[in-house]
Amino acid sequence: MALFGKKSNGVEPSTSQDGAPAYMIEARDVVKTYDTGTNRIQALRSVDFAVARGEMVAVMGPSGCGKTTLLNCLSGLDDVDSGRIFLEGQDLATLSDRKRTDYRARRMGFIFQVYNLLPVLNSVENVELPLLVSGVRPKVAREKSLEALDTVGLREWATHRPAELSGGQRQRVTIARSLVNDPAIIWADEPTGALDSKTAEDILALMRDLNQQKALTFVLVTHDQGVGALCDRIVRMRDGEIVGQDVNSHAPAQRSAVIGDMVGAARS
Ligand code: ADP
Repeated sequence: MALFGKKSNGVEPSTSQDGAPAYMIEARDVVKTYDTGTNRIQALRSVDFAVARGEMVAVMGPSGCGKTTLLNCLSGLDDVDSGRIFLEGQDLATLSDRKRTDYRARRMGFIFQVYNLLPVLNSVENVELPLLVSGVRPKVAREKSLEALDTVGLREWATHRPAELSGGQRQRVTIARSLVNDPAIIWADEPTGALDSKTAEDILALMRDLNQQKALTFVLVTHDQGVGALCDRIVRMRDGEIVGQDVNSHAPAQRSAVIGDMVGAARS
């Protein structure tokens, strides 16, 4: 497959034959240790990880195995001790703080288990907040936020505050907020963890639709086998390492080929 022309030397991102970055997300030999004063915890031991553009990947494994740390390090919320992380071919560690923040604001969306909505703001105000913070004009921010609420089926709830919404509706607001800057990558940490199973199913179906319709790349941390089963691929972690991965049979044919190459590359 043309995508996988040139493998990374660890310093440069892997490229396709036309020289473009081969992956949306590429991590090489990432190590992360937490030092609590009395303990040194190796949260990531030597992680290699790659995600194709438009892929939806679930990261699964027992509690404490490093899933959240991986997500935080890949998305640049946390620093790594060593290793390289390329997003769209760009090594964020080489950017100034301002450029890194700007890249995150423009290209990434975040969905967490706990909704992180401000209780004093209504739905549309919560959704537009990141746009206003990054300097988008209020009128444009409002229009985009209403559009994002529309996408998640909540336009009519735009003026309701979080306390007036169900858990599923609140999670939809956070999804709208993650979409509002039209990102390329969405990071989701236990996005269905606080929801009952029917609501979780609806939220997952919404994320899957967004993934397929907008070709959005998703990386989800989850305990839920049902969530993993709906993704293109499940990456399994244990004790700070990736110990295996399963490509789900429903992954679209073209993507399966890409992912198949990736699995082969990871094994070689
Ligand atoms: P998971 O998401 O799989 O439950 P985490 O990534 O949260 O795992 O944690 C991996 C390991 O790192 C655990 O042993 C956890 O206790 C430790 N850890 C995570 N965050 C911190 C922190 N801020 N300080 C110290 N140790 C941490």
